[in-house]
Amino acid sequence: MIEFKQAVKTFKLGKREVTAVNDVSLSVAQGEIFGIIGFSGAGKSTLLRLVNMLERPTTGSIQVQGVDLASLSQKDLRKLRRRIGMIFQNFNLFTSRTVAGNVAYPLKLAGGAKKEVNARVAELLDFVGLSDKASDYPEQLSGGQKQRVGIARALATSPDILICDEATSALDPDTTADILRLLKKVNKELGITILLITHEMHVIQEICDRVAVMEDGEVIESGSVFDTFTNPQHPTTRRFIQSVQ
Ligand code: ATP
Ligand code: MG
Repeated sequence: MIEFKQAVKTFKLGKREVTAVNDVSLSVAQGEIFGIIGFSGAGKSTLLRLVNMLERPTTGSIQVQGVDLASLSQKDLRKLRRRIGMIFQNFNLFTSRTVAGNVAYPLKLAGGAKKEVNARVAELLDFVGLSDKASDYPEQLSGGQKQRVGIARALATSPDILICDEATSALDPDTTADILRLLKKVNKELGITILLITHEMHVIQEICDRVAVMEDGEVIESGSVFDTFTNPQHPTTRRFIQSVQ
């Protein structure tokens, strides 16, 4: 369970202040696929970066599995980060490492022995369907294959939560559908909670259970995907749904 309690994140830019996340209270249950939508600059990425403490809340709190993230020591924070995987629009792979090297990276960082790391990498590449690409470099892969590597790497330390920030935005429709199938498998077979940002409505409709709509740092509406899309309560939600379909 992930719980935002009156979370606020303010950035100072010289004399100007930007409130990227403004008083967000939200619960995401274990095993859910939860979507976050909203126009550019609404605060979606910042909200998710609070979950793995890439950003610290200015006020309010974020609890993961009942633990207030602000209370963690550096050591416990490192442990927590292993429980939270993240994938990105531009994949963020290490270009100088092979596919296997990319997936092995977090395992080596966690101090895994070579034999165990190799076995785990083989298992992960099998899970994402890339066993035959282990020795390739990222530049030799298609966008969808790169994202599969990103997913394998994010799953390496057996996280409970996977954060996806526009993970399919750079992909064509067929490849997007493949990656969504893989994310569903991650959720169903491994029981991993997925937090997903997208500007593609069909992605939300395809895989999310619930959705939150953000505007100016606030969650202006949240609920089941069906209710939110068939009966949007907020004018911005209506505008957003119309603008992207
Ligand atoms: P997009 O759809 O374009 O990715 P977003 O909803 O993810 O947008 P955020 O990236 O969370 O939006 O940004 C929310 C606001 O916070 C924006 O006004 C942005 O300029 C500001 N912001 C985000 N990160 C920082 C930072 N590190 N320093 C200063 N301002 C920031
Ligand atoms: Mg963003």
